[in-house]
This record gives sequence, structure tokens and C-alpha cells, in this order.
Amino acid sequence: MLKLFRRAKPPKVVPERELARRLTSPDYRCACCGEILGAATAVGLRPVGWPHPPAPQPDEAMDGSGDVITERYARRGRDMLVRAHLPIPVKGTEDHVFLSVWANLSPGDFARFRSGQERGDADRLGDLFAWLYSRVPASSGPVLTKGLIVPVAGGGMPVYWITEPKHPLHAAQQDGGLTATEIVALYEDLGAGDLVGHLKA
Ligand SMILES: [Zn+2]
Repeated sequence: MLKLFRRAKPPKVVPERELARRLTSPDYRCACCGEILGAATAVGLRPVGWPHPPAPQPDEAMDGSGDVITERYARRGRDMLVRAHLPIPVKGTEDHVFLSVWANLSPGDFARFRSGQERGDADRLGDLFAWLYSRVPASSGPVLTKGLIVPVAGGGMPVYWITEPKHPLHAAQQDGGLTATEIVALYEDLGAGDLVGHLKA
């Protein structure tokens, strides 16, 4: 785990290639504190309109009623949500970063997806229409964007693809990606300033 309370040194200018390496290497250790950052998958977003969700409960809590959040699922009012990895290619590399976002499936697809996850064969469902239910960027991203949940085999976290061409990340996700510097700026916008401090140390 990242030591969030340790104060990072003032940010230095890190060359683009080095920043990309730090972002994408699963075993990169921070120069200031020696922590393994795992920066490619470290940034998670909240569901839209739910700024302070409670601590995650076990998945079985979804079988009850009312608003619930777990590590993988959530129910907010009538909206059934799944957590997914939104991949963004890192320019100049073969690697991606993966934002953890929330996506809203129809109640029927949600039930099918959850059963498939329990059996480990949700990938057999194929792509599922889902609204992106997190704002990216946090400050200026649209609320509710069209996209697809792509289930993966073995019960892993599904992948989310934005299909709305007007979304600010659509072009980056489909081809080309973002530079490491742009991704770090996005991380900062998404509230991951502590992580950014360690990446630039
Ligand atoms: Zn550090």
C-alpha cells in the first residue's frame, strides 16, 4: 500500500520515457519511500453523484436492499453498477494504464453479468451496453456517457470502452492514447495528487 501520509518531495521534471516507465511498471519502487506504486491500476473513481460512498461490503450485501457498494458492484437507487477497468494506451509504449470506473448496466444485464462472474464465464455474454457512471476528467467530464462493458473470463474485472465520440477520452482510448505527462495530469485531476508526488519523486 502507498504511504499516503508521507510527504512527497517537491515535484521534479521527470523525462517522458522515464515517467512512462514509472507509470506502467508493476514493480517500480518510488525513489522517495521505496513503495511499489502499481501506478497503472492505482486510480479509482467514485460513482457519479456519490461523493462519499461507505466502505465496501461483501458482494452478498447486494442481495439485500437499499444503496450498497462492494469492491465489484454497487446499487444506487435503481441503478445497478459494476466496477470496470477503463484502459488508456500510454503513447510511445505497448502498455496501458487502467482507471477503475463504474458503469451502469440494465437490471437484466446486471443479473446476467453477476451470475456469469460467479461461474467465471461472463465473457460468454459478449459486450454489454453500459453508461459510464464516473466523471473523467473529474472536473469537466460529461455525466453519463455511452459505452460497452467487455466481460473477461475467470471472474476478472471487466473492461470498459467509451463509444461516445464526444467524450474527451474517446479518441485517446480508441487509438493513440495519452502521453505519460497527460496521464499524470489526468491522475491529478482525478484526485490522485499523492500518487503523482511519488511518481515525480
Ligand atoms: Zn514515495
